[in-house]
Amino acid sequence: MDEPTTVTLPSGHQLTCDTCDGALFEQHRWKLQTTGMTFMNLDWANRDAACFVCVACRRIHWFHL
Ligand SMILES: [Zn+2]
Repeated sequence: MDEPTTVTLPSGHQLTCDTCDGALFEQHRWKLQTTGMTFMNLDWANRDAACFVCVACRRIHWFHL
């Protein structure tokens, strides 16, 4: 697992936790895959989501990057 870091979004904003105002996050990148879409050859429907988990309160912040 990556070390917690501060996060700057592509918009230039520094991410702070909605719940506790924390600024350190674990970063994960998860595939948003919908079962059946690949079977139907709709690969465009598969998107990446970046997930930042606040290390203080464990809230997950999702971004579609
Ligand atoms: Zn938090």
